[in-house]
Amino acid sequence: MTAVLGDFHTHSTLDDGGSTLEEMAQAACARGLTRLGFSGHSWCQWEEDFCLPRDQVPVYLETGRALKERYRGKLDLFVGMELDCYGQRPEGLDYGIGSVHGLLLDGRFYPVDESPEKSRQAVEEQFGGDWYRYTDAYYDLVADLPKKTGCDWIGHFDLVTKFNQRLAAFDETAPRYLRRAMEVMEHLVKQSVAFELNTGAISRGYRTKPYPAMPLLRHLRRLGGELILSSDAHQAGHLCYGFDKGVAAAAQAGFDHVNVWTSAGFQAVGLSV
Ligand SMILES: [Zn+2]
Ligand SMILES: [Zn+2]
Repeated sequence: MTAVLGDFHTHSTLDDGGSTLEEMAQAACARGLTRLGFSGHSWCQWEEDFCLPRDQVPVYLETGRALKERYRGKLDLFVGMELDCYGQRPEGLDYGIGSVHGLLLDGRFYPVDESPEKSRQAVEEQFGGDWYRYTDAYYDLVADLPKKTGCDWIGHFDLVTKFNQRLAAFDETAPRYLRRAMEVMEHLVKQSVAFELNTGAISRGYRTKPYPAMPLLRHLRRLGGELILSSDAHQAGHLCYGFDKGVAAAAQAGFDHVNVWTSAGFQAVGLSV
C-alpha cells in the first residue's frame, strides 16, 4: 500500500530537514516507493529559521530537477513546495501545498506550531485569552490559501491543534471550535483543493493521530472532499511514517480512496490496494 501511495510532503537539509534531497530519493527507492515529492518550505521573511533561505530557493529547484532526471524510470520525482500563506511562490513548481504556520498580527509573527508557550502568548496578547478567537483567526488564513498560494492541496489543515493534546487549552469537539473550521473546509472543497492526511506530528511525538482530526475528516467525507496521504518527513527514516494510521483514519471516516500526485494531477488509489 505504502509503495503505491508515495509521499509528497517532505523536507530536506536545504530547509529544516535532516536528510539531503538525494538521501530522501534513495530512501524512497529503498522502501520501494514509485513516487516521491519534495516540498521545501517557501521563503518567508517571518519564518527564516525553518524555511528555504531566499538564496537557496534556486539551488533547491535545480537540485530537485536534476534528481528528477536522474531517477527517471525508477522513481517518479516531483519538485513541489510547501507554500506558506506569507511566503513567496517561485515559478515552475510541480505542485504546491498551502500551509499556515503562524499569524501576523500588529507586525508581530506568532507561530502556531513552535511551542505551547508561543501559542498561549498569541492568545493572551491578541485575543484577550479566548482560544476560539485565535483558532478562528487561524482558519481565516487557511481559507485564503488557494488565493494566496495557488496551492493544489491544503497542508495539515488543523495545525492550530498541534499542542492541544498536551495543553488541553480548548475543546476540539466543541461547536464553537468546529464551526469556523468546517465553514472553511466547505469553502475550500468548493474550490477543488484537496486536503492532506498528514502524519507528521505522530513521528515527532506531538500527537497520536493524523491531521485533520476525526470530526473534520468525517466532515470532509460528507462534503465530497479529496485526501492525499503525507508524512511531512523531515528525515529519510520518516518517509511514509504512520501511513498505516492514516489509511485507518481515512477508512474510519468513510473514505474508500485517497489520492496520489502524478504528472497529470491527482489520481485516486483505492484503500483496499
Ligand atoms: Zn507545515
Ligand atoms: Zn512540512
